[in-house]
Amino acid sequence: MIRHLGLKAYGKVNLGLDVLRKREDGYHEVRMIMQTVGLYDKIDIYLKETPGIEVVTNLYYLPVNENNLVYKAAKLLMEEFHILHGIRIHLNKFIPVSAGMAGGSSDAATVLFGVNKMFQLGLTREELMERGVKIGADVPYCLMRGTALSEGIGEILTPLPDMPQCQVLIAKPGVSVSTKFVYEHLDLPSLGQEDHPDIDGMIEAIGNRNIFQVSERLGNVLETVTIPEYPVIAQIKDKMKELGAVNALMSGSGPTVFGIFTSPRAAEMAYEELRYGEAKTLAKQVYLTNFYNTREVTNEQ
Ligand code: ATP
Repeated sequence: MIRHLGLKAYGKVNLGLDVLRKREDGYHEVRMIMQTVGLYDKIDIYLKETPGIEVVTNLYYLPVNENNLVYKAAKLLMEEFHILHGIRIHLNKFIPVSAGMAGGSSDAATVLFGVNKMFQLGLTREELMERGVKIGADVPYCLMRGTALSEGIGEILTPLPDMPQCQVLIAKPGVSVSTKFVYEHLDLPSLGQEDHPDIDGMIEAIGNRNIFQVSERLGNVLETVTIPEYPVIAQIKDKMKELGAVNALMSGSGPTVFGIFTSPRAAEMAYEELRYGEAKTLAKQVYLTNFYNTREVTNEQ
């Protein structure tokens, strides 16, 4: 049995996010282009001789009981496989919380992977995905990583070709957005065609490996709810474009904004400006990263 695993749980942005309809069971049917970014939470899993799941985290306001998605993920597998040992999970958060970057889902996906490996349960990635969707709609994607089309409620996944390399600037304003609030306030019948992103066009642009075509087609229907509520999101988008981003978009239900840069120098300067310059009042957290296309999960130690 493995006694310790050191893993990275990567965040995502949506290059495209469309909502097709609300299903009778309350879930929304989506069509999303998912893209992993290089920003990650660090997760260490330690084997304990005594039973039980213990969670330790660097963020005092996160739950450490069943309400934490890492706890849920561990419990799901450990109960199913009647595991008598216990584990301690050290969760070091760097991905902004309640930000539209699927941080919690990625943590859960990583713990599913880790518990499967630690106790040699022999589940395939697909089998982990089937269990993951019970924890959250984005968990299956977080087990797949890279560039992908996500449909249904998020469980129907099609891998897409890797995105060309570029710089990605991520900025989260000092507001937190509840995903539930955004979906509840999405008024699909009142929206025009221009509010919906061209997902098929985006798939084609990704196939062409053309970062400019991709940037042109960035679109997120949830901006129609979140931006009127928090105009600072539009201000950050405008600022990024003014500072040289080819384009910028809100990720998921927000409020995080990401900007795509093809010039490392411009990206660096935009980072400095949003982090330390006059624009620093717009965003509370700012990161300069890139698209992360490695699908394999590896144990670092
Ligand atoms: P998504 O992009 O999937 O909508 P998000 O970025 O909006 O996700 P998360 O940061 O994944 O949101 O989760 C936010 C909520 O989930 C918070 O209420 C937080 O208390 C709870 N939570 C539970 N477990 C975690 C975790 N491991 N990391 C972050 N938040 C967690």
